[in-house]
Amino acid sequence: MAGNLRELKIIDHRLCKGDGTPYPFKACNNTGGLIEHKYLVIHYTAGPTAKSAINSFCSENGNASAHVVIDRNGEITQLVPFNRVAWHAGISSWDGLTGLNNYSIGIELVNAGRLEKVGDKWRAWFGKLYDPSDIIELIHKNETTVTGWQTYPQEQLEAALELSKLLVQEYHLLDVIGHEDIAPGRKSDPGPAFPMNNFRSTVMGRADDIDVQFITTTELNIRTGPGSEFPKIIETPLPSGTTVEIINSKGSWRFVDVLEKVNDAMDLQGWVHGRYLRRK
Ligand SMILES: [Zn+2]
Repeated sequence: MAGNLRELKIIDHRLCKGDGTPYPFKACNNTGGLIEHKYLVIHYTAGPTAKSAINSFCSENGNASAHVVIDRNGEITQLVPFNRVAWHAGISSWDGLTGLNNYSIGIELVNAGRLEKVGDKWRAWFGKLYDPSDIIELIHKNETTVTGWQTYPQEQLEAALELSKLLVQEYHLLDVIGHEDIAPGRKSDPGPAFPMNNFRSTVMGRADDIDVQFITTTELNIRTGPGSEFPKIIETPLPSGTTVEIINSKGSWRFVDVLEKVNDAMDLQGWVHGRYLRRK
């Protein structure tokens, strides 16, 4: 955990450090009236940098905004006071409510979102190419085929977690939801690379920490290196449905810690192909 984040507080709907110093605030005019607080909505920016997201949200004639943008290193910039409506949800509905902007605080995480494979790189919709080590191949919960998604760094997830806990507490929010939940089909953020189940249960006080658990979607060989040319660590594959935690990644391969006993082997660690893992 980033130590300084434990000291977050909210003063007059602005995010501050423990000593009362405000976090960076870039005033954004794309706002509405007062929120009737019910939910926290998580988004990705589908862009390359925090700066590009902030500039777009704060542009004169913009039609979108969010309360905060969290950079990949965990830096938080606030754009809209937490009691004012920001324009992050668009056409949306959840649990009998429509137009979730009026009922929610929106957090934007800097992330390229969905990517397309081009040669040995992955390309974002805005043209930037990403290394395979930044990408995880997963099936979106509202879809049926595997695609590439940019991963979320731990620093960013921890900042989001600390801020979310504070917001839920301060504004008595009922739940944490994704843009993909309130606008399915139209939106896919924060996407399958975001550990929503663990994040939600941690923020809502139902678990102790974020972990990054996945399950195997088929029988999967576990190897000594990131490639099918490397020898198997054990002769029998991991059964379909085995729980693992991702520790590292290289290309499409993931170095995993197997969290259950497989064929009498405990504490197995090794490389598996990432295509056959999905969020638990
Ligand atoms: Zn969104």
